[in-house]
Amino acid sequence: MKVGCHLSSSGGYLAMAQTAESIGANVFQFFTRNPRGGAAKPVDKGDVAAFTAYAKERGIGPILAHAPYTLNAAGAEARVREFAESVMTDDLRRLELTPGALYNFHPGSHVGQGAEKGMELISSMLVRIISRWDGAPSTTILLETMSGKGSEVGGRFEELRIIIDAFESQMSKDVHLGVCLDTCHVWDAGYDIVGDLDGVLDEFDRVVGLDRLKAIHVNDSMNALASHKDRHEKIGKGKIGIDAFAQIVKNPRLRDLPFYLETPCDLQGYREEIALLKSL
Ligand code: FE
Ligand code: FE
Ligand code: ZN
Repeated sequence: MKVGCHLSSSGGYLAMAQTAESIGANVFQFFTRNPRGGAAKPVDKGDVAAFTAYAKERGIGPILAHAPYTLNAAGAEARVREFAESVMTDDLRRLELTPGALYNFHPGSHVGQGAEKGMELISSMLVRIISRWDGAPSTTILLETMSGKGSEVGGRFEELRIIIDAFESQMSKDVHLGVCLDTCHVWDAGYDIVGDLDGVLDEFDRVVGLDRLKAIHVNDSMNALASHKDRHEKIGKGKIGIDAFAQIVKNPRLRDLPFYLETPCDLQGYREEIALLKSL
């Protein structure tokens, strides 16, 4: 089983891999920079080399880099969209040092412009970034399923499909977008993974395609189905509940994917949740 959690990147890549291993994880997620944005620390090539050797030896990966929350490709202001584009470009460049990584981002919030306009802005940003690229990035870019809070785009599988189709129809290069499914977000968005996990996966497959699904964010939710709140809870302590997580990690359509915890836990809490998920 590929399972791990979100870790602080402050000590660098090797430190994250060692921390992951110390808590029983074989994958991990991290923010590419401060989650509120700002400049990223320069990449330490020695650290990357040490990490790469360590990860290979211990079978750690894929690593999942999470874009800052402030990245909004669907923003109304040009300044906001330019920030999103420059941050994503810079993140993807840095990730070339760790080939084969996953890069997850929140599609964005349309802030009153309408979902259609938001989706168009998101796909066109991705087209510009990849068109300018020399060849194709070695990183797989993932759209995260969202809870549909406020004006968030990506609360419906159909919206992810529209972004993917718009991107790929304008893209001459062989670059494909993937999806990261967040259990708290889809539940909060109204997909009943407790009562009908297989029905939700059927719908995902029909609308997006299960071949697009590359990662799972495994979080319980503080709120009810279709609450559109996005408040993560510890595994088994929220409205999704432990029985549903047992079904999720065992599901033949999900079990080979990497699972990343983003629950409100410290390292000891994550160690316990990783052991719990493995025991299911
Ligand atoms: Fe996220
Ligand atoms: Fe998430
Ligand atoms: Zn969330």
